[in-house]
Amino acid sequence: MKGHLESPPTARLERLVEDYRQWLVTERSLATTTVRYYVTGARLFLCEFGDRDLQSLSLADVTGFVVRQCPRRSVGNAKNLATSVRSLLGYLYVQGLTDRQLASGVPTPSGPRLKPYTIASIPESSPPFEILFNLVPDGIASNYLFGLRVGDFIDFTGPYGTFILETAPDCECIFMAETTAIAPVRPMIHRVLHRRGHLPIRLIHAAPSPEHLIYHDEFEGAAGQDPGFIYETVLVQLDPTRSRNPFTIRDLIQTRYLADSKRERRFFICGIGKAVLELRDLLRDGGYERRAVQYEQW
Ligand SMILES: Cc1cc2nc3c(=O)[nH]c(=O)nc-3n(C[C@H](O)[C@H](O)[C@H](O)COP(=O)(O)OP(=O)(O)OC[C@H]3O[C@@H](n4cnc5c(N)ncnc54)[C@H](O)[C@@H]3O)c2cc1C
Repeated sequence: MKGHLESPPTARLERLVEDYRQWLVTERSLATTTVRYYVTGARLFLCEFGDRDLQSLSLADVTGFVVRQCPRRSVGNAKNLATSVRSLLGYLYVQGLTDRQLASGVPTPSGPRLKPYTIASIPESSPPFEILFNLVPDGIASNYLFGLRVGDFIDFTGPYGTFILETAPDCECIFMAETTAIAPVRPMIHRVLHRRGHLPIRLIHAAPSPEHLIYHDEFEGAAGQDPGFIYETVLVQLDPTRSRNPFTIRDLIQTRYLADSKRERRFFICGIGKAVLELRDLLRDGGYERRAVQYEQW
């Protein structure tokens, strides 16, 4: 790798760097000093990948480059390098030199940030395991995942987490999830359904439209075969700030699980933002024990 880094840049590379410099000056109107450090970062990046076809660059190449470079630098210098690589990748994409935007592969200078994703597979099924995710506008991790292609390598660690269900509980269970937050709930449901003679369970899946009801056919099929499983879908416009649940969901909990005096139920709630805590508090303040209301907030 050292020899590769130190090999003299090719004429093609120098032409590319010069075109990029011109673009920074004319299109971006950047100050001379800024152009200088952008160009330095760009040359370093392009040298590392030598004469490789830029179309073959992957997000992992980009991440790997920054991760290798940053520990040798001060924080400020590492930040500048990350910014310059992002800028170069934006340029390459705009010019059609890469067929996808690779800037999301640049990690933060303090090192790669770990993001949790849930194993959504049915526990009794064999590998490969399944994860489920959606695109968050401007989100670094989800854009990174969406940029991956078959055959790309990713680093992962785990599994970790406590929002799991080892065995079917000895009481009625209610599972609630919104859109992709069905991921941890799916294995739980199958764990219970696998137990012969299990107590009644209900899944309430909320989403803004039927397309967001992931695993719909699977749950509908399972409910058709198992009278102990009720599958209920709620089509609602979710609050974009995810701070409060729509009235429909709060009302459903009030009338169904708080109006009577029965408190031998267990709840498993997964969703995004503070709306999850709102449901947790509604149930706990309504008399359910703390451990009867388990939740995971994304
Ligand atoms: C224990 C745990 C398990 C998780 N499992 C999954 C999973 O299986 N699938 C998955 O898609 N995400 C999952 N997440 C969320 C995931 O880790 C990221 O937060 C998400 O992909 C957004 O990351 P980002 O860098 O793209 O955007 P960020 O800039 O980090 O996120 C911006 C905002 O989006 C919100 N957000 C988080 N997740 C979502 C989402 N899925 N949809 C819309 N908004 C979201 C966050 O609350 C945050 O405020 C999990 C989170 C936790 C804590």
